[in-house]
Amino acid sequence: MTRLPLSYTKKMKDLLGEDYSAYEATFSCAPSRGFLINAAKIGAAKFDEIFSLPTRPVPYFEFGRILDSEEKVGGDPYHAAGLFYMQDPGAMSAIAALPSFGKKILDVAAAPGGKTIGAAIASPDSLIVANEIDFKRAKILLQNVERLGLKNVAVTSLTPKDLGKYAKECFDLVICDLPCSGEGMFRKEPAAIECWNEGINGMNAARQKEILTDVLPCLKEGGTLLYSTCTYAVEEDEAIVDFLAGEKGLTPISPKSSVLPYTAPAAYGYPSASLARRFYPHIAEGEGQFFAILKKEGDKLYTQKTIPSSLSANEIKKIRAFTDENIDGDVGDLAKNGDSIFAVHPLARTIPLKYLSEGVCLGEFVKGRFEPHHNLFTAFGADFKNKEDLALSDKRVKEYLYGLEIEAKTAKEGYCAVCVEGFPLGGGKVVNGTIKNKYPKGLRIPKL
Ligand code: SAM
Repeated sequence: MTRLPLSYTKKMKDLLGEDYSAYEATFSCAPSRGFLINAAKIGAAKFDEIFSLPTRPVPYFEFGRILDSEEKVGGDPYHAAGLFYMQDPGAMSAIAALPSFGKKILDVAAAPGGKTIGAAIASPDSLIVANEIDFKRAKILLQNVERLGLKNVAVTSLTPKDLGKYAKECFDLVICDLPCSGEGMFRKEPAAIECWNEGINGMNAARQKEILTDVLPCLKEGGTLLYSTCTYAVEEDEAIVDFLAGEKGLTPISPKSSVLPYTAPAAYGYPSASLARRFYPHIAEGEGQFFAILKKEGDKLYTQKTIPSSLSANEIKKIRAFTDENIDGDVGDLAKNGDSIFAVHPLARTIPLKYLSEGVCLGEFVKGRFEPHHNLFTAFGADFKNKEDLALSDKRVKEYLYGLEIEAKTAKEGYCAVCVEGFPLGGGKVVNGTIKNKYPKGLRIPKL
């Protein structure tokens, strides 16, 4: 049985009253495992048909599944092909609760990517700017976005202050899933208990207020703020909603009614937080979560200026020659960022931020020649003209994911996409009937 700090249990008994014993009992059960189906690549019905492990739907989010298996999925070819992203079902509830998304979305604290990915698949016509202050974590976020081949996500690694300074009134929706004391994760991550102390809630609340103050200028008039944490502390939850409604003038609004049966009302004593919801493991399967949705008053009309790309006509010609030769259909607008060439989401060029990625990284010029990036294959691989499409049972699937060269049976000489059952894993280059493996070294699965 997990040992919880005494002052924490006292606080939770006060908060939950007679429900405390049901909450405490959840520590004797294993946490649920969940994942999001990547609807940008596969419909939910088709996914359910081809996925071999037992799953159940998450009742409040059509893209969510609960995985009834302990099996590791990191090496699963469909995971490598970006068909799903592991996420706790409780963490899905905040995005599932949003009544609308709007066109431009900012996820302020996005790594490793759960909320961003939820929003990107639930609202495919939106652009999500996924920001993560910690550069190492931003790289992990980018890797997840690339694996899923999402075309509607751009990634930044900026401070909240810089977001507020450079992207004023740019966003219809700002997601603030902020660092917190993690009380809702005590069952799944017992290490969070070690970090807990009586002063931690006040310290987190001060940081949450500071981040919110910094990023609120990013929100358009009439825009929506989603505030969420994975803690039960009222100082970091309801009291922050009070702060947003009182000091910042935002208006709380109702979440979608579909999440109500799976969540509890907010804690008493905070009238402006009465529409916020709490996700508890004794009410629904998943770990703890708190969320509140608030609106910024007004309905100003905004003009959008597009920032021109710095690509030269010659560079555009060379990239178009490559994409026209290799890909069916158009990859969209192009832009250069450092040495990398991106197929940019058109809305990204209307937001004046310094991006790590502003869409799909297509590749870069090496000694004047265009070299494709892994992301080109994860996002456009299904449309690649030259393909080696492997059956799930083909031993070359694992060999490719190990980083080995594989035999080309259908792909012709030159660059090719390597797919499993039609879903791209990555790229390769066929030389004399052998596919030279272009699957990135850092992603290769170890050969046991
Ligand atoms: N939204 C993410 C998801 O769904 O996968 C989880 C975000 S996690 C709860 C909070 C994030 O805030 C961490 O990635 C952390 O690096 C970042 N963070 C920590 N301090 C921060 C600060 N002062 N300003 C902005 N972000 C911060």
